[in-house]
Amino acid sequence: MSAETAGVTIWRCTNCGGGFFPEPLLCPRCHGPAFTMDTVHEGVVEEISVIRHMLGQENWQPRRIASVRTADGPLMTVGLRDESGPGARIELFQEGEAPFGRAKTRQA
Ligand SMILES: [Zn+2]
Repeated sequence: MSAETAGVTIWRCTNCGGGFFPEPLLCPRCHGPAFTMDTVHEGVVEEISVIRHMLGQENWQPRRIASVRTADGPLMTVGLRDESGPGARIELFQEGEAPFGRAKTRQA
């Protein structure tokens, strides 16, 4: 069982400030080689896709995958843990290395 951590790690170019996930070898924008790790905590769902089958997996349950535009970072693909749809603002978290998202819990 892997621990859940809040936010998803991205890599930010020390030269132009662009945020990327996963870590690129060189910045796609300015070709800078140096990055600092940063964490993004939320984003907006742009697109949903459903993985209905996985080769070699007998008991596969359909999984929802979301393309998420992060507030101050890259577009990233995360596993979705609820029924959030396009336009929904979700919170991001990580289980081990894998990024996930779910609807933001309302603050009372
Ligand atoms: Zn850069």
